[in-house]
Amino acid sequence: MAPLKLKKTVRGTSLLLTIVGKIDESSDFTEIPQNLRSLILDLGQVSYINSYGIRSWFNWISSFPPELEVEIVDCPPVIVNKLSSVVLLPADCKVRSVVVPYYCDTCSYENYESFNLLDVQNGAVPPSKKCSGCGENAELDILFENYNQLLNINRNKARKKAAG
Ligand SMILES: [Zn+2]
Repeated sequence: MAPLKLKKTVRGTSLLLTIVGKIDESSDFTEIPQNLRSLILDLGQVSYINSYGIRSWFNWISSFPPELEVEIVDCPPVIVNKLSSVVLLPADCKVRSVVVPYYCDTCSYENYESFNLLDVQNGAVPPSKKCSGCGENAELDILFENYNQLLNINRNKARKKAAG
């Protein structure tokens, strides 16, 4: 199994961390520097996570300092699908976008589209999409309760900020 890859881009006290590949028992996450103010986690290229991976992932996000601002970009279906059963995102993070799967009944093609959550109002769902394979309508292939959970994370974050 190919090891997990972490791509780091540091800008001052901000770190963009792009996580690529499979999260499992061999996954080794990076130390978060002490003086870091904000962390952007790009999860768009996470392809798989198993129960061992969930454990080491959870230990890792639990080690973040409380004052660290965490933002999630392109949260993928493999993470979203597990959100109802396990904690995979820092409680105080902001989820900028998710990768939404669409399935085409006509040609069985799986389409993926990045969907911005920051502007989304209560209960809004990703728009319908034409299949890139055949041009017919592709069906949303997501668990809505999990997407609502992502929206809730953002709302809690906004509320906290408003409260000071
Ligand atoms: Zn199609």
